[in-house]
Amino acid sequence: MKTEFTCQVHSETLEVGISKPLVGYPSREIAFMNKQFPNNGIYSLQGCMPKSDSDRGQIEIYCPSCKRLALEYITPFWKKWEKENEE
Ligand SMILES: [Zn+2]
Repeated sequence: MKTEFTCQVHSETLEVGISKPLVGYPSREIAFMNKQFPNNGIYSLQGCMPKSDSDRGQIEIYCPSCKRLALEYITPFWKKWEKENEE
């Protein structure tokens, strides 16, 4: 019996990686990204009650295809948000 997890969208074997913790409510763009690319593994949602270690990278399983597509989607927003923070 196989114990591997596969992506329900891409049927790819999930890999283990480190995700960025995200405390609080995810923005509309991030919520959309998580819906479109369910195993992107970019963020781990911590909710509004973060644990003591929730500011550190979290171990997360991800699908390489979801991650690649999600990064393509979210990178322009990261640039936009960075710009907004500078102003
Ligand atoms: Zn996938």
